[in-house]
Amino acid sequence: MEFEHKVYELNYSKIKTYKECPLLYKYKYVEGKREGLVPASSLGVSIHRTLEEYHKYSNDPSEILNYFNNCWLGAGYTSAGEQMEYYLKGKKMLEAYAEKEYERKTSVDSTEREFIFEHGIWTIRGKIDRTDLWPDGSWEVIDYKTGSELDENFDVTQSLQMGIYSVGARRAWNMKKGKASIYNVALGIVYSADFDLFNEDEILKTFVETGKKIEASFFPANTNHCQHCLFNNRCPSSSVKEAA
Ligand code: SF4
Repeated sequence: MEFEHKVYELNYSKIKTYKECPLLYKYKYVEGKREGLVPASSLGVSIHRTLEEYHKYSNDPSEILNYFNNCWLGAGYTSAGEQMEYYLKGKKMLEAYAEKEYERKTSVDSTEREFIFEHGIWTIRGKIDRTDLWPDGSWEVIDYKTGSELDENFDVTQSLQMGIYSVGARRAWNMKKGKASIYNVALGIVYSADFDLFNEDEILKTFVETGKKIEASFFPANTNHCQHCLFNNRCPSSSVKEAA
């Protein structure tokens, strides 16, 4: 069964998925198959939910763990021990996060705010984890990461995700001055770059070119991604199916 699939509506997740493997895109966005949760992604959901609620209703660092307990998602773990291991990992991250919040000079403006803008025939959407306002009137759009895959030298201007978020913030919300940041909650590092440092033309070109391939239903397998793919034990094209 094929799901209704709006080709002309693009977002970063779709582009990222297509670039990882076009066939994976087809499974997720054309056929509506779900990836399911594994411990790392489940913890990510718990942390994102916690920070959304916490910044919406509290901003008092002494309350952050209450929010974590209320927002905890128990799905995706194979045993109670594994769940506890990840719970403690998340608790440690959030304690460090709350501590760092004392040092920030910004005020939280919104959480999970959605932008939408038109670019030619394309509608581009995105949802940003958090937006902050600085005392000088400039903005910061923030995306949380809960894995430790980004090292301390990560160059945020190379992030297509933060690139499209900076374009969205300027076009949809008229945020003229500001920066886009990835907040690596796992390592307690914030990587930031001014909106101006992102190459808007290149970013939009990537979206449009990828969108055209999707529109043409061009969905070849990219087996270089199989090792990291959550469909690798059920995809006939998987290069790691036997080992999974
Ligand atoms: S298992 Fe490999 S080929 Fe199949 S969808 Fe995933 S990345 Fe693509």
